[in-house]
Amino acid sequence: MLRTHTCGEIRIGDVGKTVTLAGWVHRWRDHGGLTFLDLRDRYGITQVVFDPSVSAEAHEIGSRARSEYVLQVTGTVQKRVKPNPNLATGEVEVLATHAVLLNEAKTPPFYITEDREGDEAARLRYRYLDLRRERMKRNIILRHRVVKFMRDYLDARGFVEIETPILIKSTPEGARDYVVPSRLYPGKFYALPQSPQQLKQLLMVAGFDRYFQIARCFRDEDQRADRQPEFTQLDLEMSFVEQQDILDTIEGLYTELVRTVTPHWKIISPFPRLTYDEAMARYGTDKPDLRFGLPLTDLSDLAARSGFRVFQDTLAAGGAVKGIRAPGCADLTRKEIDDWTERAKALGAKGLVAIARTAEGYKGGPAKFFAPEELDAFAARLDAQVGDMMFIIADDAHKANTVLGALRVELGRALNLADPNLLAFCWVVDFPLVEWNEEEGRWDAVHHPFTMPKQADIPLLDTDPARVRADCYDLVCNGYELASGSIRIHRRDIQEKVFALLNYSKEEAQARFGHLLEAFEYGAPPHGGIAPGVDRLVMLLAGEQSMSEVIAFPKNSRAIDLMTGAPSEITEQQLRELHLRIVYDE
Ligand code: ASP
Repeated sequence: MLRTHTCGEIRIGDVGKTVTLAGWVHRWRDHGGLTFLDLRDRYGITQVVFDPSVSAEAHEIGSRARSEYVLQVTGTVQKRVKPNPNLATGEVEVLATHAVLLNEAKTPPFYITEDREGDEAARLRYRYLDLRRERMKRNIILRHRVVKFMRDYLDARGFVEIETPILIKSTPEGARDYVVPSRLYPGKFYALPQSPQQLKQLLMVAGFDRYFQIARCFRDEDQRADRQPEFTQLDLEMSFVEQQDILDTIEGLYTELVRTVTPHWKIISPFPRLTYDEAMARYGTDKPDLRFGLPLTDLSDLAARSGFRVFQDTLAAGGAVKGIRAPGCADLTRKEIDDWTERAKALGAKGLVAIARTAEGYKGGPAKFFAPEELDAFAARLDAQVGDMMFIIADDAHKANTVLGALRVELGRALNLADPNLLAFCWVVDFPLVEWNEEEGRWDAVHHPFTMPKQADIPLLDTDPARVRADCYDLVCNGYELASGSIRIHRRDIQEKVFALLNYSKEEAQARFGHLLEAFEYGAPPHGGIAPGVDRLVMLLAGEQSMSEVIAFPKNSRAIDLMTGAPSEITEQQLRELHLRIVYDE
């Protein structure tokens, strides 16, 4: 080794020892003939002093060194005159007796010493420099700990980690495939897995019983904030299980993981469980942020008794009247109320009724259309106190829910309602099996085509698909979907029925999924699984806002790798070998 110690290791007990360190120059300064360098490596920072009267050669090298130069320094550990309480090594320094300049460095495009400085593009282009920074280093190491914990936890419970291929046939998860042209077979393509879904099911058919994999998934989706074309899942599958068994496995893993790896986070245990219908009704979303309350509240029965036309008309048309309490917002200005109303309209609502409960009674445009007892009843139902505002929406139930749900999240943000130290995990269960795709005029799988309909709902497949619920579940945390999973279809007849419902012709189903259908005829066990995203979990655990902060080499939001320049052209020869010709759009 080129060193005896790391830069984070030396303590007061080492005073008098001769040590050799190697690392990067973090900071440097000259002081009355002495040169001081902070030498940094992954483990920490140690101050090094170059005194020409101790070693002229070492001092010459030390005084030439600049930010990010790579040095090897040998010297004697001594007590610092002025200790630095912010450094683990802050009580000591190394008095250099010998130094080697291992490499020079150009001036970096941003300060390595500052965690958040530098624009996004520069950070991605010079990712290897960005990764030198304390915060990024911490995130990447946290990621390692999280994944290692998962592996150890699952290994201890009999799970086997099995790698599945990257060059496969398309496995749909609702996105476009990335494809790889075959050189050997002109006109044929591999698809990169959107997930190992079918392969893990086949591993259950093979009898592996408990499988997991830290799996890379590839989805060619339209650009959206904080999406990566490739991402990592903890892919997991179990045989002879019911929904409860999968939920218990993941809840146990995540609870222990947070307690062990990031114990500064609070969690709610056990994780609350909501049905999809409850989540939509109470929070207007299937990804509820439970760090704060403010549930959406149904006021339809009360509204029916009021004389307010808008409410009457909506209810007569089969809609709903729903409200939410905006705590402490009774004195919003006219302009602020208009802003909230505009927001609601932008989200698709026809309008927003805002009524303030003040010490002098109810205030706000529509308040005059109601008797005080009617407003008292609204306030009681919404738990609105004096000083609160009531936001009410009358619309079709889905619209009222989704718009109020979005306003709820914005209120939470605006009023700082979320406990910043809480990871509010919850389960959302009993999703519908399919949803109607208006544009394409067909049913789409809500989760994926391999999800088992609830036994009791199987007859509805023929009569009323919209009402078929699935044995399907999501893990949600702080408003993010962290995982989706389901009990799977393991019978050919049911799988064929679902493919047919999803508008796959028999031939198409056979061509795309024949291997799976066939496998189901060779003794497929009942099985189910889930696949929590690793990137987003680590993002939450790290307290970051973006997944790219916890991925060593992410793409930017336009799916470009700014460091290597991918995607890029390939040579004519490569194209020829792949039997491809590029036709550019006009
Ligand atoms: N393959 C699914 C997904 O990627 C997860 C699962 O059902 O296990 O969302």
